[in-house]
Amino acid sequence: MEVGHIVARWEQVCADMALAAMRSGRTAQDVRLVAVSKYHPAESVAALYQAGQRVFGENYVQEALTKREALPVDIEWHFIGHLQTNKVRQVVGCFDLLHGVDSLKLAQSLQNKAAALGMRQKILVQVNLAREPQKSGIAPDQLPKLAEYLLSASDLDWQGLMLMPPIFDDPEGARPYFAALRQLRESLTRQYGILLPELSMGMTGDFVAAIEEGATMVRVGTRIFGERA
Ligand SMILES: *Cc1c(COP(=O)(O)O)cnc(C)c1O
Repeated sequence: MEVGHIVARWEQVCADMALAAMRSGRTAQDVRLVAVSKYHPAESVAALYQAGQRVFGENYVQEALTKREALPVDIEWHFIGHLQTNKVRQVVGCFDLLHGVDSLKLAQSLQNKAAALGMRQKILVQVNLAREPQKSGIAPDQLPKLAEYLLSASDLDWQGLMLMPPIFDDPEGARPYFAALRQLRESLTRQYGILLPELSMGMTGDFVAAIEEGATMVRVGTRIFGERA
């Protein structure tokens, strides 16, 4: 897609986000857009950067690292894909936020790497609320064990929860899952006395509903960049 067209689509997404934020009693500043640039070239990212977008999401480590070499250093890169333990070495310290932490083993491995680098890694815990067997994300009943570990992991900065709900044709279909993720955050906050400010939920088809239900970050790709090759 032509870069001017990408920027116009991005502006429309930002406008829709601002309206949805207001409907949820918040302002545009309360909800951040992660522009999902996987499979799209560095030139498209550069065009959005020029227009003012600073946060980009990628799913593949090598693709992200290659792209970033060609781009301004003040871009905030988020890793939104499925994280395997064998990729930990490559992601810690390279991405501002890891959205897909979903097991104790992975968390331990991230903690060890962050400690070795002498840094604090920001993370979100991905929850598989619908318990879909083919999806990543921790099952809700496994969450307490992971939560307790994260509270003791001094080099991991646990910022909140991430959700990939079941896929629906209707943008309203995922709304109950968005509301359930917010409720889960509230119960964790009560139980452990921690803040967990971030809720990463909502993509191209359903980001408006996600914001209305409390998302603080939406991950939008296709609606901005067009279909992926
Ligand atoms: C690819 C991807 C997105 C973006 O999806 P679109 O439907 O293109 O907006 C969001 N989140 C995750 C985890 C993804 O892998």
